[in-house]
Amino acid sequence: MKKVKLYLNYAGYCVAKEKMAIRNGTGEIIKFHALWGLIKHPTQGFILFDTGYTDRFLSATKYFPSRIYYLATKVEIPKKEEIVNQLKAHQIAPDEIKHIVISHFHADHTGGLIDFPNATIYASSKALNYTLNLNKYSSFTKGVLKDLLPNDLKERTKCIDQICIRKQDEVFGVKYDLFGDESIYLVDLPGHAKGQLGMQLSTEKRNYFLVADAIWLKQSIEKKVLPNPIVRLFFDSWKDYKSTHEKIKIFHSRYPETLIVPTHCHQTTRDLVQPIITFDVL
Ligand SMILES: [Zn+2]
Repeated sequence: MKKVKLYLNYAGYCVAKEKMAIRNGTGEIIKFHALWGLIKHPTQGFILFDTGYTDRFLSATKYFPSRIYYLATKVEIPKKEEIVNQLKAHQIAPDEIKHIVISHFHADHTGGLIDFPNATIYASSKALNYTLNLNKYSSFTKGVLKDLLPNDLKERTKCIDQICIRKQDEVFGVKYDLFGDESIYLVDLPGHAKGQLGMQLSTEKRNYFLVADAIWLKQSIEKKVLPNPIVRLFFDSWKDYKSTHEKIKIFHSRYPETLIVPTHCHQTTRDLVQPIITFDVL
């Protein structure tokens, strides 16, 4: 793979009991950080992987019925963690972000989208069409807050399954070469959300597989356990989720040198996030 540079950090978090995220987990309250990635490509410039939370989550959930979403997820969003503020603190202007890959359109992955009006957005056509067709007032039941999405989402989003070169993949069947230069591959990870995507990339230091919410905690791969069945209620397809989970396990056993990075796994991400934007660590 062509090498890129990677930086990871958090933009807000919510809290939940560990036993929700993993069957047989404890009652301990754990933080689910909203991880985001900043990728520096040698010719394409800056690319964001997901956009975390912003305090627009609070205004978007101020009134019923979407207030229910706020009450159900105890969210903390330090202003300085919002991506646009982290970038500004390091002299990166919002219009320098040319590309944003959205793994899926849940509110903890799309919070910052509106801050980058000049970026091209990339998603799967399944995720985009599903999101566009959701009703504004009930979309929160699917984890989507329409107030967080730009009005020109449809015009600005390129569907990777329509524009990207497809390559054969022995685990996932197909992978999408985002820029056609073998630097960033996107793969389908459906189940948690419709049309969810993961990203594979390689830096000078190692290979990474950002798997979004396809798994929540890395133990679920290591110990081969699924989340608490109650979360089925919030998942798009439990059948697809289990199939995706199985594929990630196979990928992990074939490519143990690749670091699998679940968005919300604190144990994995705490060693990866850096307080200042730097491309020399990962
Ligand atoms: Zn999430």
